[in-house]
Amino acid sequence: MAQFQRPTLCCCRKVLTVPSKSCEGGQGLGQCRLVDIASASNFHCFKLRHFHLDLRLNFAVKEITGWQVLELVAIQPGVQTLVLDTHPSLLIHSIDCKVPGTTGAQNISPSLTYRVDPFTDYGSSLNISLPAYVIRPHRAFQITVRYTTTDGPAIWWLDAELTCGQTRPLVFTQGHSVCNRSFFPCFDTPAVKSTYTATVRVPEGVTVLMSASRSAYSKQDRVFQFSMEYPVPAYLVALVAGDLQHVDIGPRSRVWAEPCILTCAVSKLGGSVERWLNVAEDLFGPYVWGRYDIVFLPPSFPIVAMENPCLTFIISSILESREFLLIDVIHEIAHGWFGNAVTNATWEEMWLSEGLATYAQRRITTEAYGEAFTCLETVFRLDALHRQMRLLGDNNPVSKLQVKFEPGINPSSLMNLFTYEKGFCFVSYLSQLCGNVKRFDSFLRAYIEQFKFSSVVAQDLLDFFLGFFPELKESCVAQREGLEFERWLNGCGPPLCEPDLSAGGVLTGPVQSLCDLWASEPPDPEAIANFNLSSWSTFQTVLFLDRLLDRSPLSHEVMGQLSRCYSAQLDEMNAEVRIRWLQIVVRNSFYPDLPRIRGFLHKHTSRMYTVPLYEDLCSGVMKCFAAEVFYQTQARLHPNLRRTLQQILFQTSALPTPTGSVPSLLHPTPSSPSPTPSDQLGPADPPTTGTIALRDVNVSA
Ligand SMILES: [Zn+2]
Repeated sequence: MAQFQRPTLCCCRKVLTVPSKSCEGGQGLGQCRLVDIASASNFHCFKLRHFHLDLRLNFAVKEITGWQVLELVAIQPGVQTLVLDTHPSLLIHSIDCKVPGTTGAQNISPSLTYRVDPFTDYGSSLNISLPAYVIRPHRAFQITVRYTTTDGPAIWWLDAELTCGQTRPLVFTQGHSVCNRSFFPCFDTPAVKSTYTATVRVPEGVTVLMSASRSAYSKQDRVFQFSMEYPVPAYLVALVAGDLQHVDIGPRSRVWAEPCILTCAVSKLGGSVERWLNVAEDLFGPYVWGRYDIVFLPPSFPIVAMENPCLTFIISSILESREFLLIDVIHEIAHGWFGNAVTNATWEEMWLSEGLATYAQRRITTEAYGEAFTCLETVFRLDALHRQMRLLGDNNPVSKLQVKFEPGINPSSLMNLFTYEKGFCFVSYLSQLCGNVKRFDSFLRAYIEQFKFSSVVAQDLLDFFLGFFPELKESCVAQREGLEFERWLNGCGPPLCEPDLSAGGVLTGPVQSLCDLWASEPPDPEAIANFNLSSWSTFQTVLFLDRLLDRSPLSHEVMGQLSRCYSAQLDEMNAEVRIRWLQIVVRNSFYPDLPRIRGFLHKHTSRMYTVPLYEDLCSGVMKCFAAEVFYQTQARLHPNLRRTLQQILFQTSALPTPTGSVPSLLHPTPSSPSPTPSDQLGPADPPTTGTIALRDVNVSA
């Protein structure tokens, strides 16, 4: 692959840049290396102070109509065009301009001329010509964009049948990574943060929630008002509207859900959320967002959970898997510090959010549930990382922490386990270097204090680390042979080192022993009977099943024995356990358990469970069975998921579909069919089997 040019910081210190050809010879910095946004050419010419959304939701025609007011200040003189990111699904009606504090001709809100140009398959470029009198450095002006948006990648309209209660429709948005340009025109980069307010008008009986620190409702006008007082990037603006009710579960937290699942959701979380927040505050300093609420969304939610500030979005399907629910919520809480307060400035360094949040999540679970539990969960995830690595090969560029995007790449498509787990290992290594986990906690507290509400690049973190521990800087830890920081960031392959997880041995030991017993020829039923799966935790059981899956294909005799031993018992367990057993069934073509697959797919309609199973069914000999189940259940699937499954079913190759996204990482997978991985990488990069590998990862935490 093309050699990666080491990025440097733009003058605003927020943006990665590389010298362009014309700049060779030290003529200065070239264009910002933000190939995923149309606004890259000029967003740093303006300061976005604030924006306001005034929206009306129309469920009947699945439209959001209204206007957006952007409050901007020109930083550089002579800029005549404002470029924003937008999307073909967003129809612009008019654009006006106003300069507050001016009178007469200068304040008549003239209509501005604008042009929408194609940019990528996930967005367009909105070019607004600014009147000359606006372009005065450091003077504020307002741009008002009137628009209608329908069903772009950010906006998910659910008919009533697709909700949990099946009585009223629901709509939610999902901005990560580059989808919100179809929700409102914006600088769709994590490098730009601003406060926002919103007014949302809805039909009677609909409740609206947003990722905002304050909200109010006027029953008479059926208008919801929101204010986010802290600066956030565009991707963290989120909205959900439907038949939602709440129960307070702590002094700053409430659970929101459709009425039919609210009691269950509240009972599963109970008083835990405030406890987790308190542990996190002890470790990383004050929670800066005020509220921490959670909204449970129907199974059509395309990912497991999303860390929208003040309001975590989470899929209701996870409710039955207690330990996964716990890990997912704690992970989203950790984002309150890592990812939301301090954000990666570019999507090429997503590990700054996910790797640090994963580390913080594990610090919280260590304090709240002990080291053994945390190590077990880590072993389970690192197992998955190594599985992915085996499939990708050691030199695959997606295994880098600093991924290089080429134009046209959708950043969401390159989210993978390396973002989380290799990032986690690097952060653990930094913690190890300073010799004491508590000292590293204090470093993280200082890091948050230093950078909160801003966006950073890896160099900011590492410079601050070496400044915080001058003795480490003096001993040149950044250049330690084989463990160079540069190699961590830009090297392909597995983590350069992994943390000591031996404290998990008490929980992982029995799992490995049972796996070994099943691997012996022939398996010894008496020895196996000494292990009782029902006394195990979910993470132990899924680790056991994942390791069995790694040993597939298994002989028909062993499959028969496994089925007699476990099948009925596993069928009573949660979906995270069941899907793993069913994948073993499919990959070993074990027909006696086919009815269990049918039962599972009739019950579970979320992407995180259906896509991996359909991919397995279709890449083996059970494609006809998959088609039959699909026709029986398709009416209850979201159109996007239906399309994905159709593509899986009707592909001619036996290979897994390129549209099958990561089954269920902690976070966003593309909300609509995405390009194949080989399209996503640049021409200089070798083709990758990324999708095949990602689907095999089998992780849903
Ligand atoms: Zn995350």
